[in-house]
Amino acid sequence: MSKQTHSFQAEVQQILHLVTHSLYSNKEIFLRELVSNASDACDKLRFEALDNAALYEDAPNLDIRVFFDADAKTLTLRDNGIGMSAEEAVAHLGTIAKSGTREFMARLEGDQKKDANLIGQFGVGFYSGFIVADRMTVETRRAGLPADQGVRWSSTGTGDFEVEAIVKPERGTDVILHLRDDEAEFLSTWKLKSIISKYSDHISLPILMKKEEWDSEAKQQVVKDEWETVNKAAALWTRSKSEVTDAEYQDFYKQISYDSEAPLAYTHNRVEGRSEYTQLLYVPAKAPFDLWNRDKRGGVKLYVKRVFIMDDAEALMPVYLRFVKGVIDSADLPLNVSRELLQESRDVKAIREGSTKRVLSMLEDVAENQKDKYAEFSRQFGAVLKEGVGEDFANQERLAKLLRFASTQADEGVAFADYVSRMKDGQEAIYYITAETLAAAKGSPQLEVFRKKGIEVLLLTDRVDEWMLSHLYEFDGKPLQSVAKGAVDLGKLQDEAEKQLAEEAAEAFKPLLEKLQAALKDRAKEVRTTTRLVDSPACLVVEDGAMSAHLARMLKQAGQAAPSAQPILEVNPAHALVKKLDDAARFDDLAHLLFDQAVLAEGGQLEDPAAHVQRMTRLLTA
Ligand code: ADP
Ligand code: MG
Repeated sequence: MSKQTHSFQAEVQQILHLVTHSLYSNKEIFLRELVSNASDACDKLRFEALDNAALYEDAPNLDIRVFFDADAKTLTLRDNGIGMSAEEAVAHLGTIAKSGTREFMARLEGDQKKDANLIGQFGVGFYSGFIVADRMTVETRRAGLPADQGVRWSSTGTGDFEVEAIVKPERGTDVILHLRDDEAEFLSTWKLKSIISKYSDHISLPILMKKEEWDSEAKQQVVKDEWETVNKAAALWTRSKSEVTDAEYQDFYKQISYDSEAPLAYTHNRVEGRSEYTQLLYVPAKAPFDLWNRDKRGGVKLYVKRVFIMDDAEALMPVYLRFVKGVIDSADLPLNVSRELLQESRDVKAIREGSTKRVLSMLEDVAENQKDKYAEFSRQFGAVLKEGVGEDFANQERLAKLLRFASTQADEGVAFADYVSRMKDGQEAIYYITAETLAAAKGSPQLEVFRKKGIEVLLLTDRVDEWMLSHLYEFDGKPLQSVAKGAVDLGKLQDEAEKQLAEEAAEAFKPLLEKLQAALKDRAKEVRTTTRLVDSPACLVVEDGAMSAHLARMLKQAGQAAPSAQPILEVNPAHALVKKLDDAARFDDLAHLLFDQAVLAEGGQLEDPAAHVQRMTRLLTA
């Protein structure tokens, strides 16, 4: 292959520009990214070699070497990992495989902090080399290919790159950075060592550098022709808990998550018994931008006996814990396990159940001991946890305890247990209402009698709430009861006099209700009086067990067919507007107006807004 010139994919050009300009203040992260690529390449080799030991050629000891040439101003990272074929070099170092580029650029442009972790998160780490180099040369040969099928990739990081064939006897990759004139600080053993220990200590491969010694005659440090390991080179999770410091756990989290914030909590355990594994699991403090993508694979890496097997092993965590990051290292799984096999494995099921319990205990602990932190967790991840209520029946009760809601007493942070502890004497149910927004929930006419009697109502406004409620019927033996479904039955909370009054009103209003029913026969299934209203003239409710109006609207918005059952119109016999209904001439307009108001009050939309406007106009001009 003679020398060929290729253009970078358009996105790469934009990213190159952005990365090199906006991350300058954090430039040393280039080393972390290149070390991480070298380490990935060794992991890949080990993995492919499980089926084909010949790939090790005659160099089975994998390592990463970092060295520099002060005169030539080059810094080289060498690994003997999987390497790249010519096609791979063109594809991997010229295009961006991962989706989310646009999001990445928007964040990098928008972020005041210029979060350097973003580049790892979005899979563009290689290009960070151009922050400090005005040319990068990559010399590589893929494991298993003959020596003359090596390739040299080279670019100044603007517009295009060149590739040409070379002879490369050693398998693996050299990444050579031609440092810019003002980046000479990286031509220092001390400097490089300190960056490596800051970012790459946890890398489980040895990172080697040339030894440096003080030469007392020459009165200076001289570089010896002898390699020494400069990192700890032991995977963090394999070390005993007592030997790992909090700072090391935090650093490791940053490495694997590319999150610039410290994690909310972590747990590190060695599990022995029927299945043996080590888990190091973290709960992030902030939700990732794609939390709502349920197809997104989880954040847990799978290792088997310390050999890296795969990233994002979704089978290791339930979907509702997809935000958990970390490592699980199994002693039982076969090394050649595939994603498909993982789904069926009994060992994996045991790991998933064990890990789920660990995460829940971790959250319970935060909820118990660090209330503020837990409040923030709930804001960030509470809605995802609600998915678990319907997905993980074995842990449903524990999950329900971890949920926090808004209620008529507080805008957030109300646990079921708090609610139960505030229940009135004689109150039997946990009352709730679902709505699109907190404001809509708070304004619901259905809440009026509860407010008047000082009974707390949970205000549920997450999209998953309806779904959750279709799986959760009670808490602590108390049924969950919607205040917008069925007749209000406050049971023991209503005294005899109130009940009597309600019955009398129902009786007295019978003729009016019949007229209303006739006028609204195409809109309401039934018209009845209610005691749930105080200030509003009317509201809509659905029957017990029927789909709430809120859920029906959500389904409709999502383009799904929702059963169009008619609601029940409940009227407040004490309200002035209801009393006015007797006006025979305007009865029809007033009846429909009453219904329209009830629709609007619960955040619904009028099916025929024009008719509503005409009615209003007639009434106002009469
Ligand atoms: P990511 O590591 O997230 O995939 P990078 O921009 O860091 O993104 O690297 C891009 C790709 O280039 C890698 O996925 C890999 O295929 C290839 N690559 C980079 N460095 C090496 C290396 N040292 N050995 C083999 N392949 C490499
Ligand atoms: Mg990378």
